[in-house]
Amino acid sequence: MQEKKEIMRRHRLIVLIGFPLGVIIAFLFAIDTIKDGIQGQSGLTFLFSIELFILAVIVFFKPDFIPNLSLIFSYSTVIFLFWLTISNINIAYHDSTYGRHFIGDSLNGLMGWITIIFIFTYLSLSRKKNFIFTIATFGGLLAIATYHFMYLGTFEISYYISRWLNTIIGVGTAILLINRIGNLQTHYATYDSLTGLLNRKAITQLLEQEMGRSERYNRPLSIIIYDIDHFKNINDTYGHPSGDEVLKSMSDLVNKTIRKEDFLGRWGGEEFLILLPDTGKESAKFLAERVRVAIEEYQFEKVKHLTASFGVATNQIGWTQENLLLYTDNALYEAKHSGRNRVTSYCANQKL
Ligand code: GH3
Ligand code: MG
Ligand code: MG
Repeated sequence: MQEKKEIMRRHRLIVLIGFPLGVIIAFLFAIDTIKDGIQGQSGLTFLFSIELFILAVIVFFKPDFIPNLSLIFSYSTVIFLFWLTISNINIAYHDSTYGRHFIGDSLNGLMGWITIIFIFTYLSLSRKKNFIFTIATFGGLLAIATYHFMYLGTFEISYYISRWLNTIIGVGTAILLINRIGNLQTHYATYDSLTGLLNRKAITQLLEQEMGRSERYNRPLSIIIYDIDHFKNINDTYGHPSGDEVLKSMSDLVNKTIRKEDFLGRWGGEEFLILLPDTGKESAKFLAERVRVAIEEYQFEKVKHLTASFGVATNQIGWTQENLLLYTDNALYEAKHSGRNRVTSYCANQKL
């Protein structure tokens, strides 16, 4: 909480001081350009190097400042786009033929920076803010491009247009790649590579969320943990790759058997967890039984027949995640020890 407040305070500082300051600096540069009639990229490079230096110092002394960097980068992009527009107006004002290359050249130089900015914003902004930022930057680039072409009075595929296309395609490619890498990363961090089910971390997070929801809205919540019976024998008899195939086809089978609202995750080697939101004890037992029968009746390749044992528990007021998992595990243990291929639900007088 304290940390959040601190971040909010820094955000306010950036908005109230950093942004107006940036605009003033941009204006000063613009005035300087008008006064001396200087066109070139030196101003831009200078501003970036100052900014980088300041950021480097801040990060060196305050490493926890990193999440805020994206904001600074975002604001500076706005300032630079703003500054480029002003410079372009100045060029028009001076009516200098030399200056016509300016915007294209500057943007080519800026492209690498915009890519870096996107990496930062992607890593630290929320998905929605990142989307807004992407749209805003593209909108800005296109708006200035349109303005530039109108000023040039030509839409031919010319030297200028090719420079603009270069920039816009470059930025576009960077955004696509960064998003793709991000999506892949999220995917690998969330799903199990063998079965394609949610991995343990993801299902634990969901369980945490759903337990909170169940408590807030007073809705029932149940979980099922099931473990394949005598799976070691399958590996020993048919080999590990065949064991893997069984895990895959069983995951598909169970996924088809449960409801759309339920979540299936790989809890461990050949142990799986089904999270059942809005589900009371009786429905959970009924569902577990349905899955048990589906597995029992399925003809697996090579292995043919298989069974699994199921532990079921329903969340109760005051239980922590550890409690719920422990009681489900106990029920599963019961199911194994009373003969396997059966569903056992947690019961309150069971020894813990
Ligand atoms: P039980 O009925 O008591 O559950 O007997 P079991 O043989 O299934 O016993 P246990 O649950 O202790 O054994 C799990 C076995 O599952 C051991 C391990 O070799 C195998 N296993 C775990 N993960 C994988 C995997 O990813 N692929 C394959 N092929 N086997 C796995
Ligand atoms: Mg096991
Ligand atoms: Mg087993």
